[in-house]
Amino acid sequence: MFDPAIKILVIDDMSTMRNLVKKRLKEMGYVNFEEAEDGLKAWAKLNEQTDIGLVVSDWNMPNCTGLELLKKVRTDSRLKQMPFILLTAEAEVSQVKQAVLAGVDSYCIKPFTMESLKSKLEQVYAKRVEKPK
Ligand SMILES: [Mg+2]
Repeated sequence: MFDPAIKILVIDDMSTMRNLVKKRLKEMGYVNFEEAEDGLKAWAKLNEQTDIGLVVSDWNMPNCTGLELLKKVRTDSRLKQMPFILLTAEAEVSQVKQAVLAGVDSYCIKPFTMESLKSKLEQVYAKRVEKPK
């Protein structure tokens, strides 16, 4: 798993969902969080705070969606290797292919359990950290 001290950027336009995601991550042992309420604010934080090591983002948000944020991250020379997980609503599952093409590491369908999010994190860790390309 990722280092428990890794700084995780949790992005969602609903504070209740940000809190739920953080709660699940805390249950796994993570302690270091940053939050943003849309992709634009998240993009600013990613550029200001160079210690962010993992992004867990909602898809559907005003101003800049999770998919738009992912595309910005993947085309940025400094951020392109950032581990990036999208949280999607059931209705967006048909659009997931776009996110895969844009380079998402994994996605989790809401509502999700701690175990399902944890297994996604483990997959991403294996891909990005244990066996980086
Ligand atoms: Mg949303």
